[in-house]
Order: sequence, then structure tokens, then C-alpha cells
Amino acid sequence: MKNTPQAPFRSGFAALVGRPNVGKSTLLNALVGQKLSIVTPRPQTTRHRILGIYTSPSEQIAFLDTPGLHREAPRALNKAMNRTATAALEEADIVVLVLEALKWTAEDDLALGRVARAGRAAIAAVNKVDRVRPRERLLPYLKELGERHPFLAIVPISALKSDNIEALRRTIAAHLPEGPVLYPNGELTDRGLEFRIAEMIREKLTLELNQEVPYGIAVEVERLAEEEGQLMVDAAIWVDREGQKPIVIGAKGERLKRVGTAARLTLNEMLKRRLHLTLWVKVRENWADNARALKELGLE
Ligand code: GDP
Ligand code: MG
Repeated sequence: MKNTPQAPFRSGFAALVGRPNVGKSTLLNALVGQKLSIVTPRPQTTRHRILGIYTSPSEQIAFLDTPGLHREAPRALNKAMNRTATAALEEADIVVLVLEALKWTAEDDLALGRVARAGRAAIAAVNKVDRVRPRERLLPYLKELGERHPFLAIVPISALKSDNIEALRRTIAAHLPEGPVLYPNGELTDRGLEFRIAEMIREKLTLELNQEVPYGIAVEVERLAEEEGQLMVDAAIWVDREGQKPIVIGAKGERLKRVGTAARLTLNEMLKRRLHLTLWVKVRENWADNARALKELGLE
């Protein structure tokens, strides 16, 4: 009798794309089991391509979280975000179009259009099914989705509740090409400490601020040093107008203090060590429209 052939090792890039706020970053974190990408209730929280690596004995999947595809706003930052998302989906071996259960908007249409135009094999992940009761209400939506595009598979999930995530990961892996390990075992992302700290501060800030301000904010770690067993971090919060400075600082500095405390607690936990965080609010007029500022902040 012949030996059972061993399944080949599979590897490749899977881009998570979709309109803003469908849950792509929550999904990335659920797929790799670590918080690598920041999450807030506001659209356009993710500005960069965030890599999250999942490795098992039979496969390695390099997930790419991306900024939400959205209608072109005039700002340079919006253009850069759309470019980042489009580039990731064009590079990937497979695309996961993330959607929100029972919803289909003009921006979902735009996102599907980009996927179709790139000619990439795509899986649809229908997220937030925890909100759908009874579950049968989903069936006509799934059927319609199948008629919109020849998806390889349509997988209902809840990224928030980690529901059906395993099944989605298996479906993605099954469609990856045979290939070698791409990243050393144990590696989770390609982003350094400074980036992860800056992002965590931006998450806490975004959660604190009202509608308009978060879009005018960027965070940059200016100093990272080891001193007497503590990690010393100085970070600048860039606002794009003088008038936003007092909003970020808050009355008697209360808001900035809350943000600092929240960020420090999360980072202590994430890094499994104590850190001392100092935040500065600085103004760089219209940085979101300024190509050079975007470049300096790693956003182009
Ligand atoms: P992104 O903009 O596509 O990356 O979306 P985020 O991951 O930042 O999530 C946007 C919002 O949707 C946040 O408030 C999340 O907590 C929420 N969210 C994400 N996934 C789920 C889910 O499966 N169920 C529910 N109810 N909310 C979710
Ligand atoms: Mg996101």
C-alpha cells in the first residue's frame, strides 16, 4: 500500500480589505490572536498596512490589515490611505473582502470594484453576525452576495466574539499556493516597538476625542530609552491646527492625562514591563495635506 502523501506546506499573503469600519483590524487581531492593529468605533482609524503573521505546522499566512477603501476625499492623507489599501490587495495571493452583515453601501461597492479590477481570488468575510438575530435573516444577504461576485467562499464571522474565525483561517489557507515559510517562526509582525507604542497612544486618543479631531492627529515616538530598568518614552501628538491643541489637552490637562494613563496601562500589559510615558502636543499646520509631513510620519 502507498503511504498517505503529506499535505504540502502552504504560504502567502492574504489582504483584509473593505470599506472603513467593517471590522478589518478586529479581524486581523482575532486571526493572529494578538492585538497588532488598533481598533476604535470611528472610521479611518487604520492608516497603515499592518502585517500579522500566523504560523502553524501546515501553513503560514501573512495577513495584511489595510486602511478602509473610501470615496476619495481631497486630503493627501485620504489618498495615501486608499493607495496603501489598493497596493496591498494587488500584492496579495488572496483577498478577504470584509463586509458588515446585512449592509451594502456605495463604499462596499467601491471596495468590491477594486477587488474585481485587481483580478485577485477573493473570499468574502461577512462580519458582525453577532448582531443578527435570528441568524436566518442572513440567508438572503449571503445569496445576494454570491450573485455580486464569484467569491471562492463566503464565510459569516464575528471578529469581536471570535466566532468562526478558525473556519475562515482554514478557508484562506486552503486557497494559498504551496510554498516555503516566509517569516521566521515566532515572528508576528514587521513593525517595531516605536510604531506599536505610537499606534496605541493614537487609539486611546481617538477614543477620547470627538468626531472631527481624530482625523487631524498623528502620533510619533520621539525618544525611546532604557533608564533604571524603565522604558522611557517621549511621544509627540501632532495636531494640524492650533485650535485643536486645547481640545487634546483638555481642561487643566485632564484629557491628556487620561490618554497617557490609558496608553501606559495597555502598553505595560502588552510589553510585560513598566514604562514611563510623556506626551507633548505639537502643531504642524495641515500635516494631513502635506506630502513631506506624511512621509516623515511614515504615511505615504
Ligand atoms: P476597520 O475600520 O474595518 O478596521 O474596523 P475596526 O476593527 O476598527 O472596528 C470598527 C468597529 O466595529 C469597532 O467598534 C469594533 O469593535 C466593531 N466590530 C468589529 N468587529 C465586530 C463584530 O464582529 N461584531 C460587532 N458587534 N462589532 C464589531
Ligand atoms: Mg482598521
